Amino acid sequence: MRAFAYERPDRLADALALLADLGPAARPLAGGTDLIIRIRDGSIRPTTVVDVKRIAELEREIRVEDGWLRIGARSTMTDLERDERIRRDYLALAEAAAFVGSVQIRNRATLAGNICNASPAADTAPALLVYDARVVAVGPSGRRTIPLDAFFVKSGVTTLRPGELVEAIEMPLPAGQRGAVHARRTRRRGHDLASVTLACSIGADGVTRLSYGSVGPRPVLVVDETGVLADPRATDLAKSARLDELFADASPSPTSMRASPEYRRAMLRVLGLRAVASAMERLAS
Ligand SMILES: Cc1cc2nc3c(=O)[nH]c(=O)nc-3n(C[C@H](O)[C@H](O)[C@H](O)COP(=O)(O)OP(=O)(O)OC[C@H]3O[C@@H](n4cnc5c(N)ncnc54)[C@H](O)[C@@H]3O)c2cc1C
Repeated sequence: MRAFAYERPDRLADALALLADLGPAARPLAGGTDLIIRIRDGSIRPTTVVDVKRIAELEREIRVEDGWLRIGARSTMTDLERDERIRRDYLALAEAAAFVGSVQIRNRATLAGNICNASPAADTAPALLVYDARVVAVGPSGRRTIPLDAFFVKSGVTTLRPGELVEAIEMPLPAGQRGAVHARRTRRRGHDLASVTLACSIGADGVTRLSYGSVGPRPVLVVDETGVLADPRATDLAKSARLDELFADASPSPTSMRASPEYRRAMLRVLGLRAVASAMERLAS
């Protein structure tokens, strides 16, 4: 591993000043479960790592504020798994967080790091997308919010501007009844990323929101407003056909070592059907 300088500011202003001074040669570090691996394999070579774990303004807190559930940037997967409100109102996100790595990884890995790393296989991304999440970013020009769907560009690339940090991730409070679920296919749980990751949320109005990852350069959100997926009388054949339309833009990598494109497409449909059935059950219960 190439040597790098290590900074651990206590104040947000100091972290932002460091990032502004050093430019792209500096990288923020939260849990380090992605960053350290990428520094080790040489895919990124920062001259300075800015540890954000002591910055009080980047909270490790999950709370309600102005109609949104706000998840502070230092909140870990374990924090999400255990949070009562997330388990009750955002179950697909609690399930996604519980799928990430092992207990040790989940105790360190932050939600902010998961989305900033922008892996197409990030497990929390589909759940956050179906719940209409937004990112609160803070940087040299102040604070702004970015809808999560406008945050992901492609693997490793987001619309975060140079020198910006993610301060929080927010989801609107639920407006009505919904059933939601996270589903995932992987070769080895705890050791490997997803071959397909997916979340589904069905509202009492019959609208189904599905988001899928690991089958293209970024996670994708699709919405079914025809009501077919939420119709208990519709056959699996009709639902499969609708899912095929919704998943038409899936573009799995032909060179990935994890799974062939054919396998990923087939699993996407299987997981889609199962997720719709589970979400319907949860909506009814
Ligand atoms: C063994 C193992 C298993 C894993 N299994 C899974 C899995 O099953 N599913 C899954 O989705 N992921 C998995 N991961 C990946 C990883 O744990 C997650 O992506 C994690 O959530 C990243 O968070 P972190 O706090 O460790 O981020 P870090 O590694 O510290 O940072 C990741 C990226 O985000 C940036 N960053 C961090 N915080 C901020 C911030 N506040 N503002 C701006 N940029 C920031 C960093 O600069 C870096 O580019 C696994 C990793 C390992 C090592």
